[in-house]
Amino acid sequence: MWFDQHVHMEHGPYTPTEYPVEWLEQFLEAGHSRHVMGLGIVEHGYRFTESQGLLPGEWSARRCLYPLRGYTEFLDRVRGRYPIAVGLEMDYVPGAEEGIRNYLQRYSWDFVLGSVHFLDEFGLDVGEMKDEYVRRDPEDIWSLYYHYSIQAVESGLFQAITHPDLPKIYGFPKPSDSMLIPWYRQFIEALADNHVALEINTAGLRRPVKEIYPHPKLLEEAAKVHLPVTLASDAHEPENVGRFFDEARQLARECGVDKVSAFTANGIQTMSLG
Ligand SMILES: [Zn+2]
Ligand SMILES: [Zn+2]
Repeated sequence: MWFDQHVHMEHGPYTPTEYPVEWLEQFLEAGHSRHVMGLGIVEHGYRFTESQGLLPGEWSARRCLYPLRGYTEFLDRVRGRYPIAVGLEMDYVPGAEEGIRNYLQRYSWDFVLGSVHFLDEFGLDVGEMKDEYVRRDPEDIWSLYYHYSIQAVESGLFQAITHPDLPKIYGFPKPSDSMLIPWYRQFIEALADNHVALEINTAGLRRPVKEIYPHPKLLEEAAKVHLPVTLASDAHEPENVGRFFDEARQLARECGVDKVSAFTANGIQTMSLG
């Protein structure tokens, strides 16, 4: 019995969206076949008009198109009726903490996932900006990424941090372990101090890097301090719910993690990895 903490209902990439309940049922059904009995439903905060001006750059400005109310009305219809927790995946933007806080206060979420998708205007997972990985020094990318991730943790805005080594997504060269491991430690220390969970996200196996987020060495640091970790597929389609969870649990165990946590509608639950 598992909980998939990070599932997007959004139908296709940023098209006008309705949220038919049957669509949710397809996600739940797909999860059942993988022993996933509950889902954390999120959408990208930047899709909604209320996020206007919070994220820097043209790319985001073109995407905040739909009223948040469409999503929250859907959540009102389904929460309590299905085994789901309702949430949002929200970008962390340095300096925009107050605006993000106000935005998040518009609804009573069960949980909010914090993401660093952007280093200022550079979208780490935006295909059209991939060349930026070649133009920039990998050490600059990764140190800025963890610098922002630590700030995200310390902002107090989020219950968990998602895909916590996202800059590896396309498989571009990474800095050495001797540079990364001190960042991992600092990041984990911030998570522990601020009681924020770390997400194990299997979507990396569907991306060019073909690796689960995060790297085993980061997960080992998390295990050392018994940091709560969640399981997530980041599915945008029913067929990806709970996908690669066997691999995620095996990785977690190999790194010394003995249980996973879930933010559910009834609070935090933990499941032993046995
Ligand atoms: Zn994300
Ligand atoms: Zn996501």
